[in-house]
Amino acid sequence: MAECRRCLLLESAGENTLEEIRMRIEKLSEKEKASEEIYNSRLEECKNCDNLISGVCMKCGCYVEFRAAFKKMKCPNANNRRW
Ligand code: SF4
Repeated sequence: MAECRRCLLLESAGENTLEEIRMRIEKLSEKEKASEEIYNSRLEECKNCDNLISGVCMKCGCYVEFRAAFKKMKCPNANNRRW
């Protein structure tokens, strides 16, 4: 897979990785899960962030599509938190 700056997994990863992330998100309880509106707005912020490379946040090493799904999670960039 080529390095893809500012791409989500949706745009850069193989189907298996994306499917795995989706399955894990589906298993989250409603209490744990961010609303769809919040989830999508978080991902829009990530797509405009220099720390996003091929779906992975360089600040924490997480797949942003997974991290953003948790209600209690925050953007890990303490100096410039986007969400
Ligand atoms: S630093 Fe924050 S906004 Fe940037 S990719 Fe990571 S989680 Fe997304």
